[in-house]
Amino acid sequence: MSNYTHILIAVDFSSSADQVLKKAADIAQINHARISLLHVVEYLPPIDSAYEPILATNWSIDENELLDKAKQSLAEISKKHSLSNSQQYVQIGTPKYEISQFVKGHQCDLVVIGSHGRHGINLLLGSTANAVLHEMPCDILAVKIKD
Ligand code: AMP
Repeated sequence: MSNYTHILIAVDFSSSADQVLKKAADIAQINHARISLLHVVEYLPPIDSAYEPILATNWSIDENELLDKAKQSLAEISKKHSLSNSQQYVQIGTPKYEISQFVKGHQCDLVVIGSHGRHGINLLLGSTANAVLHEMPCDILAVKIKD
């Protein structure tokens, strides 16, 4: 079996993120692989417009503030899992799209993702894991999340 050399971990900061990071860190150690962590900041609430979310008309978000907070959270969670040496990335966009683009642009050979996180449980939309499965040019490991 060939070794993985560059593993991408998709981190959503949900309660399942620790399980995803733990599994990925174990695989990276066995393979002596380098690790990239990616969090995608979803600029709009992850909800289907058919449900007509009620947003204040003056609803505004400072993108840079969101990005800074996400970077800080990524640094904290990577430290917790002894992954401070990993590369950490934050993008604004849609998780399924940004994860696929990242893998294609950074020659990752394994993506580790949770079987479900926030979207999979709370909303009636397809999960990120399902969506990226069809887009990936490399192996993908969907960590079965134990609730
Ligand atoms: P979900 O689509 O919310 O059920 O999440 C399934 C998995 O997709 C999570 O366990 C993460 O690995 C990944 N994921 C979901 N949302 C994001 C995000 N915003 N940034 C990075 N990874 C994500």
